[in-house]
Amino acid sequence: MPATLIVGTQWGDEGKGKIVDLLAADADVVVRFHGGNNAGHTLVVNGEKTVLNLIPAGVLHPGRICMIGPGVVVDPEVLVGEIEALRKRGYLKDDRWLRLSERAHLIMPYHRAIDRARERLRGAGSIGTTGRGIGPAYEDKMARTGIRVGDLFDEVGFREALERSVREKNGYLEAILGEAPLSFDAIHDCYAVYRERLRPFVADAGEELRAALAAGRRVLLEGAQGVMLDVDHGTYPFVTSSSVVSGAAAGGAGLPPRAIGRIIGIAKAYTTRVGGGPFPTELTDALGDRLRADGDEYGATTGRPRRCGWFDAVVVRHAVALCGVDGLALTKLDVLTGVDPLRVCTGYELGGRRLDRPPATQRAWESLTPCYEELPGWRESLGGARSLADLPANARRYVERLAALVGAPIALVSIGAPRDETIRVGDVF
Ligand code: GDP
Repeated sequence: MPATLIVGTQWGDEGKGKIVDLLAADADVVVRFHGGNNAGHTLVVNGEKTVLNLIPAGVLHPGRICMIGPGVVVDPEVLVGEIEALRKRGYLKDDRWLRLSERAHLIMPYHRAIDRARERLRGAGSIGTTGRGIGPAYEDKMARTGIRVGDLFDEVGFREALERSVREKNGYLEAILGEAPLSFDAIHDCYAVYRERLRPFVADAGEELRAALAAGRRVLLEGAQGVMLDVDHGTYPFVTSSSVVSGAAAGGAGLPPRAIGRIIGIAKAYTTRVGGGPFPTELTDALGDRLRADGDEYGATTGRPRRCGWFDAVVVRHAVALCGVDGLALTKLDVLTGVDPLRVCTGYELGGRRLDRPPATQRAWESLTPCYEELPGWRESLGGARSLADLPANARRYVERLAALVGAPIALVSIGAPRDETIRVGDVF
């Protein structure tokens, strides 16, 4: 059976964590394939909140294999912390339930130091990175100077690679960024501890994944961030440093593309974005504040307030086309209850011309104006709805209109953070 892939269709924070957790009930293996601990999912299960940054959101289902694939960059300090926190709460009882690719690149302390120093130096022009070293770790990967998980286990090779890197990075930190140098010994000793903590989980994850698929296991690929943050297709340079689109999932997980069968795009019923960068439908008024408060729109890991605005069908339509989305999971519809009328951006206007797709340049993003369509809102609580027919007529109309505008059928509608506050329309596997 081919794998099912989950991708975010906006600027991240679409509620992928809840959807992956929900679908993981029917999966055997859940895989992260890109990004690092800049992603943050908040899961609410039995009234208890769990924040995950690296481990796939399948971990709350005992017995699921959670894989961190070769395309991910891993901060071992964060991973060890996450494993310990989950263990304390009774999850991840068996080491075999977590697999860490030996090919995944390591985030090192100098990556974090460089990330933070650069963002500070950019001042008002900052691109809003989380300062966790993700971008600099991907730079080293592409420059072919990175250190991978598997390298930790070749102690002589690891020492040599680390010596080279610390020498080079300290030069950069001191001379260019005006920062204090880092201690080789401190990093070396720290990573020797992580080596032993992570040893039980390290595997040829791609090979294990292919074997699982061949054995008929059900695989869920968990995307992080969203298509508009994709390094090629997003609002460059206000993007993340990895590929988010479905086309990158196979490589990042270690699968042939044909192994991916179904692609589910997650979209929030309105739009949010963290940090700087284009956001045509942003609401900077009281309604934006209301969406932020009602939707609890604060970063899961950083606590940063998210910018909020109307649903942008241009963005989601782009993601649907680019990723080949088969079904849309619409989240947080409940947050729009009481907002009347509702507006949806159906296209942009730029220099007297109508655009149906996102533009490529920053100048175009800054000059365009969104074109809106108005739809009637609803005041009834969505609480008990378990099918589309249970929704108030205007909520149903809103959902159906969004699906038509973006060109994908609805697979699922989420009307609250808990697992059961979900309307399932079709099968996702
Ligand atoms: P992710 O990174 O895409 O998983 O998104 P986040 O976890 O950062 O943000 C999603 C937040 O919305 C989490 O706090 C979820 O518990 C919550 N959430 C998810 N789906 C719904 C929903 O349908 N309604 C409401 N009110 N909250 C939701």
